[in-house]
Amino acid sequence: MIRLNDITGELRSYHPKADISLVEKAYVYSAKVHQGQIRLSGEPYLSHPLEVAHILTQMKMDVVSVAAGLLHDTIEDTAAEPSDLERLFGKETANIVDGVTKISKMRFSTREEQQAENMRKMILAMATDIRVIVVKLADRLHNMQTLGYHPPEKQETIARETIDIYAPLAGRMGIYWLKSALEDLCLYYLEPEIYEKIKAELTERREVREKFIREVIEIVAAKLKETNIKAAIKGRQKHLFGIYTKMKEQNLNPNQVYDILAFRVIVDTVKECYEVLGIIHATWKPVPGRFKDYVSLPKANMYQSLHTTVIGPLGQRMEVQIRTWEMDKVAEEGIAAHWKYKEGSAASKIDEKQFLWLRQLLEWQKSLQDPKEFMDTVRMDLFPNEVYVFTPTGEVKEFPKGATPVDFAYAIHSEIGDKCIGARINGRMVPLRYQLRNGDIVEIVTSVKHHPSKDWLDFVRTSRAKTKIRQWIMRQERDLSVNLGKEMLEKSLAQARINIANLNKSDQIAAVAEDLSYHSQEDLFANIGYGRISVKQVIGRLKPKVDIPEEAKPGIVSKMVSRIKRKKSTLGIKVKGLDDMLVRFANCCHPLPGEHVVGYLTRGRGVTIHKHDCRYIADFEPERVVEVIWEPSDHTAYVATVKVVTTDKRGILADISAIMAQKDANILQADVQTTLDHKGISHFTIEVENYKQLQEILGAIKKIKHVLLVERG
Ligand code: MN
Repeated sequence: MIRLNDITGELRSYHPKADISLVEKAYVYSAKVHQGQIRLSGEPYLSHPLEVAHILTQMKMDVVSVAAGLLHDTIEDTAAEPSDLERLFGKETANIVDGVTKISKMRFSTREEQQAENMRKMILAMATDIRVIVVKLADRLHNMQTLGYHPPEKQETIARETIDIYAPLAGRMGIYWLKSALEDLCLYYLEPEIYEKIKAELTERREVREKFIREVIEIVAAKLKETNIKAAIKGRQKHLFGIYTKMKEQNLNPNQVYDILAFRVIVDTVKECYEVLGIIHATWKPVPGRFKDYVSLPKANMYQSLHTTVIGPLGQRMEVQIRTWEMDKVAEEGIAAHWKYKEGSAASKIDEKQFLWLRQLLEWQKSLQDPKEFMDTVRMDLFPNEVYVFTPTGEVKEFPKGATPVDFAYAIHSEIGDKCIGARINGRMVPLRYQLRNGDIVEIVTSVKHHPSKDWLDFVRTSRAKTKIRQWIMRQERDLSVNLGKEMLEKSLAQARINIANLNKSDQIAAVAEDLSYHSQEDLFANIGYGRISVKQVIGRLKPKVDIPEEAKPGIVSKMVSRIKRKKSTLGIKVKGLDDMLVRFANCCHPLPGEHVVGYLTRGRGVTIHKHDCRYIADFEPERVVEVIWEPSDHTAYVATVKVVTTDKRGILADISAIMAQKDANILQADVQTTLDHKGISHFTIEVENYKQLQEILGAIKKIKHVLLVERG
C-alpha cells in the first residue's frame, strides 16, 4: 500500500516549495471518515484515495489536486458535506471534490459515438475546474487497475464506460500515457481472448524485437553522431489496444501487424527535429502518406511532434516520432506540463500561447479577455454557452445555455413540444420557464388538450422550438382565415343568389383556386381571409363558369360586384394590412368614425369594430385583436345612441330634436320616460356622419336649459 510519505516525497521532488500541510491534513481527514470501510479487495478503503493521490503526483499535479485526490470519495461515501471540506481545505479543494462526486453519480451507457461525445462534453461542462477531470481520470485508472474484484457484468459496464468516455477524455487532455493505460485495461476486460492472443504473440517474439530495437537505435545514434546532434533515442512496442485497433482496421492477425514498434528521437531544438527527419528518411524508405508535421501544426491539445513511418532494416514498418524535450514534456504530462506554471511562479511571464490549446480543447466560444484572469482563478466555465441534460432513458442532449423544458420538448418531438404543460426535473415539477442545468434529468409532462402559447416565444432558446411555436400559431391563424374567407365568399355569392354548394359540386371553386395557382380550395379561402385576394377577384374568375342563363349573366354579376363595392366604400374603415376584410360595427358600443377603435377577428364573421374602451374588450383573446384605421368615406349614416336627462318640462323634446335636425342628424328612434321625481329620460337613436358631428350635437344639447345630463347611450 502506498504511504503518505511516498506521496509527499513525490510532490516535493517536482515542487520543492509545496505546502505539504494541506495534503497531510487531507490524509488525516480521509483516514478518519473512511475508517472501517473496506474495498472489495479486502484492503482498507483508504488505500484507494492514497493510490489516486499517488497517480496525481505521477502526473505532477499541484497540492490542491493531490489533496482533492485524497478526499475525492468523502462526499459520496462518507458523512462529509461539501461545506465541511470547504471549511477545512478551502474552496478550491472542496469544489474539485464536489465536481468529481457529481460526475461519479452520472451513469453512462451507450455505444453510439455521438452520445459518447455528448457525455464527454457534459463532463467537461460540469467541471468548473479542469482539475476535476484530472482527479476523476486518476480515480478511474485506479478503479480499472482493481476491477478484477468486481463481478463480470460490473467489469464490463465499467470497462465500456471507460473506453467510451474516459480514455478519449484523457487523450483530449493530452495525457497519452493515461489514455494507453486505460485502453489496455479495457481491452483486457472487454476482449480477454484477443488481449491474451496479442500478449502471447508479443511475448513469443520479445527477444527478436528487443534485439531489433537495439539495432535501430544503434544505427540512428551513429548517423546522428556524424552530424553532431545530441539526442535521446527510445524504442518501444505500441500498447496492446493500439495493436488491436490496427488488427481490427486492417483485418489482420496479431502476427501480421508489423508496425507495432515505435521509436522516439528527442532533441534540443526544432531545427534539429527536421534534420533528424531528413536523416531517417535518407536511411530508410518512408511510407507515403504517413508523414505528419505536428510541429508546425500542433494538435488542439498542443501536442507537437514529427511523425513518420519508414520501412525498417528487416523490411518491416516502424513509426518514428521526433520532438524536442519541451514537446516531449507536453506529450507525456499533458495538462500537468502547463500546470506547473501556475504554482510557485506567479511572477513568471506566462506565454498566452501555452493556453491556446486549452481554449481550443474546450472549444471556447468567447475568447478569454485576459489570460491572467484564467491563471488567477483557475476555475472556469468550460462550455459557457452550452448545457447538457439527460432524457429519462439516459440519452444526453445538448442545448444552448438558458434553454428551457419547452426547448427540450421540441427537441424530442414537435408533438411533445406542442402538448407540453410542464416538466419534472430530477423528479420535481418545474415551470416551463425553468432554465436547464448541466446533468438535469428532464421529463416532459404533456396534455392532449394543451397547445403552444405565444408567450413561449419569450423564453425558448432553440431556433427549433421558436420555429415550431410560430408554425403552430400560423396554422391557427390559417384555420381562422380559411373559415373567414369561406364565409366572406359565401355571403357575397348568396347576395348574388348563387349557392356555394352547387359551385362546390361542380368543382368550380377548386378550378378557380387552381387558376390562381393556389394549392387547394382551402388555400384560396385562407387567402381571402388574409385579404391577399378579394372576394371580387374570385367571383370575377367564377363569372364565365357560373351556370346561369346567358342573358341574365352580366346583370347579376355586375350587381353583385357593385354591391360588394358599395358595401366596402360605405364602411369607411380598414383593417390594417388586410384589404377587403368583412367588417361590421359592434352593437354593444356603436363606434363612430374618428373614435379610437380596435378590430376583433371573429370566427367566420369577419372583423367586428369596437370602441377601444368597450366593456367587452377585457374578454377578447389578445391574438385576435387587429389594428384598424378609419378611411375617408362617402358614407354618412352611422348609428349612435344618445341619452338625455332633463327636468320634466314641456317642449324640451322639441328643442332637442331641433338641435339634431340643425346639426344634420337623422333621428331613427326616440324613447321618452318620465320618472317619479319629475325627470325626463330620453333615449335617441340617431344617424350621424362621424364622431365629431356627434360631439357637436352632444355639446349643443348640453347647453339647452333644463338639460341635466347628456351622454352616449
Ligand atoms: Mn474513487
